[in-house]
Amino acid sequence: MRYSEFGLTTLKEVPAEAEIVSHQLMLRAGLIRRLASGLFTWMPLGLRVLRKVENIVREEMNRAGALELLMPAVQPAELWQESGRWEEYGPLLLRMFDRSEREYCFGPTHEEVITDIARRELRSYKQLPLNFYQIQTKFRDEIRPRFGIMRSREFIMKDAYSFDLDKDGMRAAYDKMHAAYSAIFERLGLTFRVVDADSGEIGGSRSQEFHVLADSGEDAIAYCDEDDYASNIEMAATEPAGGERPAASQDLEKIATPGAKSITALGEMLGIAPHQMLKTLIVEGDEQPVALALRGDHELNTVKAQKIPGVASPLTMADPAAIRTVTGCEPGFAGPIGLDIPVYYDHATADMADFVCGANEIDRHYTGTNFERDLAVPETVDLRNVVEGDPTPGGKGTLCIARGIEVGHIFQLGAKYSTAFGASVLDKDGKDRTLEMGCYGIGITRIVGAAIEQNHDDSGIIWPEPLTPFNVVLVPINMHRSDAVREAAEALYQELEKRGNMLKSQRGESGKGRA
Ligand code: ATP
Ligand code: MG
Repeated sequence: MRYSEFGLTTLKEVPAEAEIVSHQLMLRAGLIRRLASGLFTWMPLGLRVLRKVENIVREEMNRAGALELLMPAVQPAELWQESGRWEEYGPLLLRMFDRSEREYCFGPTHEEVITDIARRELRSYKQLPLNFYQIQTKFRDEIRPRFGIMRSREFIMKDAYSFDLDKDGMRAAYDKMHAAYSAIFERLGLTFRVVDADSGEIGGSRSQEFHVLADSGEDAIAYCDEDDYASNIEMAATEPAGGERPAASQDLEKIATPGAKSITALGEMLGIAPHQMLKTLIVEGDEQPVALALRGDHELNTVKAQKIPGVASPLTMADPAAIRTVTGCEPGFAGPIGLDIPVYYDHATADMADFVCGANEIDRHYTGTNFERDLAVPETVDLRNVVEGDPTPGGKGTLCIARGIEVGHIFQLGAKYSTAFGASVLDKDGKDRTLEMGCYGIGITRIVGAAIEQNHDDSGIIWPEPLTPFNVVLVPINMHRSDAVREAAEALYQELEKRGNMLKSQRGESGKGRA
């Protein structure tokens, strides 16, 4: 490829709309162009990188024995009604009508379509195990598309779905995908971690995410090198506090705290550290609002909170009117004393003594609050995000926190979709067996952004070798003045093209190359 024939347009200025470096550099280098919110064109230079990612993913999926197919992007509503997700998926699902007023969605994922295929095509245990995959355009009407192609609305995913006769088979298929994903991210030359994850609206039991480590990552990962523990912070568990609660040494006192509606403001006013305060959050509940109480320096974990019975899912903060009804005052002064709704205390509150909390009165807080005397000794639950230095759940080490970009997610689905769709086969004894499924996603487009987040400096992108759009750039100096330079450059160019094409056709023949 000659530069003069490539039509590349680059930008000198940092585009104002781009918050993070990969988005800025992808726009500046002419890899992508924005069409509308969350919609991007992959320009020729960017597409070369995207195809490289795609090829590595395809090669490793084939190597792991998965079979490529291609399902429609547009899916009939009936299939989603059958699984129950037409309602569940909410506004993330782009819905549309055809000319006959039949309803469809643009697929955000393909469990429904593949399970429909399985129930039609699979009859016997002899056809198993099977793993189908595709590399497909998805659409999710994300509430906040951002970071360019990293959280876009239209994106390309590699999604795979395994079918087995029993749980052991499903686990073996899952382990195979775990290994294939590790091989993919190693080949891509990226530093990554595999973490335990929440299964979200996809459902199922076990799931793990693959994260490319980068400071700009949207997810926090808790890990411990001493005992191999790694979990998305969404799922990283804390245990009940083990220590003794110190005895009360202060009297309970209601004090004036004008305008101190936040932990920070209150801390500054009273000269008290956040861990000596209790914060009480009022959230929506199934029947009535629910209070969640945490140490002032700890952050609420929404995934954990919305799993508590009676708490609304997705977790929603109560609105000011509801807060006024349950606490009798403006938001910002809620506290557990005298509160007449269910209160859930985080584990770490159990050994607090002489703490500060809201008094359910405007501009008032209590100091010197103590369990046993002023409040019943709480039964605690796991409500907070872990922090650096917390013990690991096994108790062998302490946690470190890193930031990551989720580039892959593997799930043991079990029989959730196969039961809903009646997808079963006959086993050896002629008995009907519901299929055990797994599903496995990789964000093909997101990988390009993640690779740049992890590999850049002040001068721009430093491509990991397997991703670079061009491997060699020939820069003939003063070619217009020297025939010798022109001829030598031309000869080199022809030779490199020839070798490149040879390599490509070798790879094409075996389908397993590692170029
Ligand atoms: P996230 O938590 O980032 O919203 P998710 O958990 O909803 O992602 P999955 O359903 O697990 O996503 O989809 C599989 C993969 O598809 C993700 O691991 C991610 O790499 C990619 N992906 C998901 N949503 C987007 C998006 N809006 N833009 C680009 N890639 C995405
Ligand atoms: Mg995910």
